[in-house]
Amino acid sequence: MVRIFLLLCLYISITSCASKKEPSTDESKTKAIFSFIFDDLNTSDTLVKSIFDEYNMKPSFALVSSKLDSTSAIIYKSYYDQGISILSHSVSHPKMNDPLINEDTVDFELKSSKQNIEKYGINTSGFVTPYSLMHPKFLKLLEKYYTYSFTNNSKDKFDKTVNKHALSRYGIESNISTSDHSIDKIKSRIDSAIKNGELLVFYGHALPSRYKDDLGNARVNSDDLRRILSYLKGKTDNKECKVLTSDLAISAYYK
Ligand SMILES: [Zn+2]
Repeated sequence: MVRIFLLLCLYISITSCASKKEPSTDESKTKAIFSFIFDDLNTSDTLVKSIFDEYNMKPSFALVSSKLDSTSAIIYKSYYDQGISILSHSVSHPKMNDPLINEDTVDFELKSSKQNIEKYGINTSGFVTPYSLMHPKFLKLLEKYYTYSFTNNSKDKFDKTVNKHALSRYGIESNISTSDHSIDKIKSRIDSAIKNGELLVFYGHALPSRYKDDLGNARVNSDDLRRILSYLKGKTDNKECKVLTSDLAISAYYK
C-alpha cells in the first residue's frame, strides 16, 4: 500500500514538473538588449567610463584610429582588458555616402583602421560609419573585416531581421530635450524597445556634449547620462532587459 502511494506521488511530481517546463509566452519572448557607444576618441571617454562604473555597466568606444597613439592606446587597451568593446570608426572620418568617395578609399579606411587599433593588442570586430550613413554599395566590404557594422541601412528597424552590417543607432544628443534636458523621449524609447524585444544601441560623443541646448549649454552633461543609466538600471534590476558592451550585445541578441 505504501509502495503504491509512493509511486503515485512520484507520478504526480514528474507530470507537474513536465508541465512546468513548457515555456511560457513571456520566457520565449526576445529580451531587449541595450548598448552605448561613444564615438571619435575624446579625452572625456575616461569620464564616460567612470560614470558607467557607478552603475556597474560598461560603455563601448568607437575610435578614429588616426587619433590613437601609444599614450591613448594604453587607456583603451586597459578598457579592452576589462571587457569593454573597442570599435573602429575609420582612419580619417570621411563621409562614406559621398558620391565622390570610391571603393578603394572605403576599403582602405575599413582595413587600416582595424589594423591601427589591433596593433596595440585590442581586437576589433565592430565598425561605426563616420557621419552615420554608409552607401549600400559598400556594405559587402565590411564583411571582409568586421563581424558587425553600424551603417544606418536598417530603415529604422532594431530587431533580428536587420543584417549585422546594416545596423542603426539611437542618438542621445538628438533625443534629449534641448529646452529642459528632459529624458522623457529617451525613457519612452527604452520602454518601447523592452516591449518589442529590440536591440537598441545608443550613441554619444564628447561629455559634456559639444552640441548645444537652447541656452547655449552642453546638450548632454554628466547628470543627463546618469539619469539615463539610472532609468535603465531599474529595468535591468527588474530583469526586463540587459545592458551590454556592443560585442556582447550583438552576439547575445543574434544567438
Ligand atoms: Zn564620428
